[in-house]
Amino acid sequence: MIFIKLQGFEYGRCGNPTRKCLEQCLASLEGGKYALCYSSGLSAVMSVTHLLSTGDHIICFDDVYGGKFPIIWLLFKLLFLKQMVWLETPTNPTMKLADIAAVAHIVRKHCGAFLVVDNTLMSSYFQRPLDCGADISMQSLSKYMNGHSDVMMGALITNQFDVWKKLHYIQKTLGAVPSPFDCYLVNRGLKTLSVRMEKHMQNGLAIAMFLESHPLVQKLIHPGLPSHPQHVLAGRQCSGFSGMVTFYIKGGSKETEEFVKHLKLFTLALSLGDVESLVEIPSIMTHASLSKKERDLLGITENLVRLSVGIETTKDLIEDLDQALKRSCKKLSTP
Ligand SMILES: *Cc1c(COP(=O)(O)O)cnc(C)c1O
Repeated sequence: MIFIKLQGFEYGRCGNPTRKCLEQCLASLEGGKYALCYSSGLSAVMSVTHLLSTGDHIICFDDVYGGKFPIIWLLFKLLFLKQMVWLETPTNPTMKLADIAAVAHIVRKHCGAFLVVDNTLMSSYFQRPLDCGADISMQSLSKYMNGHSDVMMGALITNQFDVWKKLHYIQKTLGAVPSPFDCYLVNRGLKTLSVRMEKHMQNGLAIAMFLESHPLVQKLIHPGLPSHPQHVLAGRQCSGFSGMVTFYIKGGSKETEEFVKHLKLFTLALSLGDVESLVEIPSIMTHASLSKKERDLLGITENLVRLSVGIETTKDLIEDLDQALKRSCKKLSTP
């Protein structure tokens, strides 16, 4: 009998050494046993939904990642989905938190139900959903985990062998896998995850405090500040805060667009979690596909601005925000 040792690397789609190295690193970062990588965050979402069959259900927030709506809605119509509970905490861009441990406790009481948490906004560095009782932690690695806005990738992490086995089968049969080179880049990005996240947090908090007391800012949202209604939960559930800062500018769409136009260090972009600072206007960018009524219900008004604060010098970022605010709201700033 001829015995060929394949080591699980018989074909690139089924597995390769670079992807395996990354998957092991991701599992250990989230305190999980198994991880699987995909060609984007949304292909990780799509792969989880393939765990479900006819008659099953997904229960999810009203405020989940914009891009997931079409997929979940489509599957809901086509497949009728089991009791999968889908959480995103904090939500994007309005930063509502869900108590993962409390939800996991309720989910566990229902036989066959399971909990998936989208952990993209916090990264594995500041939040570990599996430790709080989630069954699967999902990440868009395109954001903080890779951190340099030059890779699209997603991941699923779990402690359960049977879940991993099913996902592994789905991964190789659907084929939404990342390239070994992209895995190399994310492996490389992860080496600086801790320093990046610490600096994102430091800059994010400094900017949040600056904006909260700024006369041209109507309202600021940051779970790290006592003004956030779920500040205590944030302190219990997360070990820190990312660079996401959301605020309502004083004025309307004109002032908001003027503000963004006058920024010099913040790049106008849909993405987040980059080492460079990014800005976007959710009502006309990431959440433009929702109706005005849906946006109003979520608090996504035309004067809402989302910052993804990078790792640049704090003082430079604050000065940039200050000059752009003053120039955007000329009438408001000169009484
Ligand atoms: C970006 C993002 C996704 C989708 O990930 P892609 O890598 O862009 O496919 C999912 N969830 C959240 C919270 C995101 O920010």
